[in-house]
This record gives sequence, C-alpha cells and structure tokens, in this order.
Amino acid sequence: MKGLGTETAFEVLARAKQLEAQGREIVHLEIGEPDFDTPQNIVEAGAKALRGGWTHYGPSAGQAPAREAIAAFFSRDRGVQVGPEHVVVTPGAKPILFFAVLAVVDPGDEVIYPDPGFPIYESVISFFGGKPVPLPLREDHAFTFDLADLEARITPRTRMIIFNSPHNPCGSMLGKDTLRGIAELAERHDLWVLADEIYSKITYEEKHESITQFPGLLDRTIVVDGYSKTYAMTGWRLGYGIMPADLVPHVARLMTNSNSCTASFTQIAGIEALNGPQDDVAAMVAEFRRRRDRIVDGLNAIDGISCVKPKGAFYVFPNIRGTGLKSAQLQTRLLEEAGVAALAGTSFGPQGEGYLRFSYANSLENIERALEKIEGLLAKV
Ligand code: PLP
Repeated sequence: MKGLGTETAFEVLARAKQLEAQGREIVHLEIGEPDFDTPQNIVEAGAKALRGGWTHYGPSAGQAPAREAIAAFFSRDRGVQVGPEHVVVTPGAKPILFFAVLAVVDPGDEVIYPDPGFPIYESVISFFGGKPVPLPLREDHAFTFDLADLEARITPRTRMIIFNSPHNPCGSMLGKDTLRGIAELAERHDLWVLADEIYSKITYEEKHESITQFPGLLDRTIVVDGYSKTYAMTGWRLGYGIMPADLVPHVARLMTNSNSCTASFTQIAGIEALNGPQDDVAAMVAEFRRRRDRIVDGLNAIDGISCVKPKGAFYVFPNIRGTGLKSAQLQTRLLEEAGVAALAGTSFGPQGEGYLRFSYANSLENIERALEKIEGLLAKV
C-alpha cells in the first residue's frame, strides 16, 4: 500500500474544514470542482430516471442507451467516428485511469506522464509495478514540452504515454502540431496513449483538439472524459472511457470485479447532459473566464508572484519564487495565517517546486478576498 499516492487537495480541504470548525474564515481555492450546481434539466432527468425504475444493476460496460449517447456525442464533438462498442461507463473518470493502467501496464513497463500533473497518474503507475517516467512541463514552454524531450524518454520498455489537455494544474493546452508529433511517436514505438480530456469543454481561446483525430490513433488511445467538470456533476460520479473495442471487455471485467456497474439512473441523466441544451455550460465557462482574468491580473500585481494566463480548465499555476518561500511553506502559511486554501505545486510532482495551484472555481468576491489576504501575508514575509 506504500506505493499508492494520494491527492493533497483532499488533505488540505480536511485541514481547512477543521480551521472553519474553530471559527476561522477560509477562502477555498484548493479543490478542483465547479462551484455551480448541476444544470436543472440534468437533475430533472436524474429524478425522472429514478422514478422510471433505473434503480437496478446494469451491464458492467454501461447501460446501452448511455453508451450509444456517449459514442454519438464523441463522434460529433471530436469528429472521429466511434460506436458504443468503444465506450465503458464508470463512476467518475478516475476509474478509467486506474483500469487503463491496470489493463495494459505490466510490472517493469515504463509510463511517461506530465510533471507537474494530476497526482493519480504517478500513483497508479507505481502501484501496478510500472516505472513512472516524468516529462517536465516548463513555464518557458507555456507549461507544455518539446517533442524532443518526449522522444528522449522513450525506451524499449516504454508502454504508455499519458497527457492531459487542458491541463491540471497548469491550465496549458497541447496544440495540433504537438498532438500530431505524439501520435507519430506512439505509432513509431508502438505505444499506448492515455489522453485525459476531462477539461475538453473548459477552454477560453482555443478549441480543444483530440489526439484521436490522427490516423490509427483510435486503435491505441484510451480517452478519459466524463461529466464531473463540464456539467458540474462531481458528486454524481459519472465518467467514461473511449478505447479500442477489443480492450472494452477487459475494462468491463475490471468493472464487474470492482463496482459491478455504474449507477443506472446517473447514466440516464448523463444522456440529457450530452443531448440537452448546453447554455449552462457556456455560461459557466464565461464566468470562469472572468475569474481567470481577474485572478491572473490580481496575482501579477502582487510582489514576488508572476502568473501565466491559462488556456483551459479552472486553475492558475503562479510562479512564487520571488517570495523566497518554498511551495509547501507558502501553502501552509497561506492556510494557517491568511485563511486561503491553495495547493503547493509540489503536490503535482517535483517540477511544481516554486509554484502554487489556485482553483478559481469560486466567486469573484471570494477571489478578491483571497487576493487581499495573499498580498497581506506576503507583505509580512
Ligand atoms: N483527470 C483530471 C486531470 C482531473 O483533474 C480529475 C479530477 O480532478 C479527474 C481526471 C477525475 O475526474 P472524476 O471526478 O470524474 O473522477
């Protein structure tokens, strides 16, 4: 069990709640979850599905109408034709990460993943006996990487490349040329690709591009996506993977052995999410953009901090080296002394030293308050 990592966000949240219970005011910028409610049409569809008897076990790979709807959505959204036989529905997107690595990575296999990056990647690679090979994302590369850096990490033992665009924690996105380059490397070296596209609908200037658009890539890619972020459905636990049809029975068997199936009524509500009006998503993204612009400007106005403007997701990853503090020290002092919950960049890998992650999934008013508190604390440092 020592090989299994965690997400610090949940630990910081627990400490912040403890402080709140003691009467302290805390501004929460630690957790990666939209502060909006699930759109009403989806809630109604879920309630109707419950009343309509979608309360039983279902097939491990997902309910047939849900898989159909996901395949149709993916085909029209990414412009790549897939059918329901490519889809596995899971309780949240995370199980797809877990099952994909469990299904294809053998002990000793090397897996390349982004550093900084979502901490669960390294955790599951190590847990299943794989060798995690970090690929540094650098600020002077807009928090992306050179293809040469990626290629240099590929060996005969490399089995899989994991990437995430838009990216948690940096908010960076991979352009079409980089994706084409990854696709070529994956083909040349016969690698699996795990494309975490959970933030694909939360973008500000550029449209998200999927690596599955390149010839042959659907046969070697597992796409991770779901409803948690786009439709503010984190607590519903609903996600899915798009993968080669011959991998689906194996991942479905992992579902049979673990969850049996994803809750049936949530899957039916998910059909409404994909096929119903998308106005609430557009309004949420517009609000995230306003907050992004405010928090980036606000952070850049504070001595010791500089912040690149992210292109997607709802995180900023400011450089805090000018404060003279280590990331973990600033995380602790912000929480304990200033009442601002944030995450040290090192929660996302060693390359995160010198950075913090703030989630701006909080009101503009609270973001203003946090900026004042951060400035107040740094004036004392
Ligand atoms: N992938 C990334 C990059 C994430 O940030 C998250 C959630 O924070 C997930 C996957 C998991 O999403 P879900 O809540 O649907 O399991």
